[in-house]
Amino acid sequence: MAVNSFEEECDYLFKAVLIGDSAVGKSNILSRLAKNEFHLDSKPTIGVEFAYKNIRVGDKIIKAQIWDTAGQERFRAITSSYYRGALGALLVYDITRRATFENLKKWLHEVRQFGSSDMVIVLVGNKSDLSSSREVNVEDGQSLAQLEEIAFMETSAKENLNVEEAFHQMVGRIHEINSKKSL
Ligand code: GDP
Repeated sequence: MAVNSFEEECDYLFKAVLIGDSAVGKSNILSRLAKNEFHLDSKPTIGVEFAYKNIRVGDKIIKAQIWDTAGQERFRAITSSYYRGALGALLVYDITRRATFENLKKWLHEVRQFGSSDMVIVLVGNKSDLSSSREVNVEDGQSLAQLEEIAFMETSAKENLNVEEAFHQMVGRIHEINSKKSL
């Protein structure tokens, strides 16, 4: 379902995907990005959903088509078509559930198997507002990101903290890679 339409003109369109275990906050990150909304009890229908977001980088308007798994990850049913053509990925875990962090290895393996070799991945530790239930230290996220040579940020979709920033990191890096290519 497209949440936004192609009303605004853009210079480039690119695809980005949200990945990570169930209930880490992917769909709320998407609605923050696209509509600046948060849903306490969100549950998407099964199937892929996406939304559009426009971002200005320099003098260019870039439109991101951001895909959400919409529950498919529960059944390990994300296929190569989900990743096809994607230039960026937000790989999300929940800082209050250690298992979602441990599973990142599996997600990274899948992204690298199905995604393009220069896909920009940003690691996102979501639910930073729930610090009293934290099971993953900031340092753990940082070390993994360093090891995997990807960017890292903790976010709260609920409090709207760093969600835009994580996305901007991804877009900035994609823009950098593509500008080099077109030189
Ligand atoms: P998804 O399955 O990964 O798409 O996760 P959802 O976006 O559906 O979120 C799962 C649950 O976590 C929902 O109850 C959300 O309200 C909640 N949630 C998502 N992001 C945050 C956050 O940043 N902070 C808190 N406290 N709860 C969140």
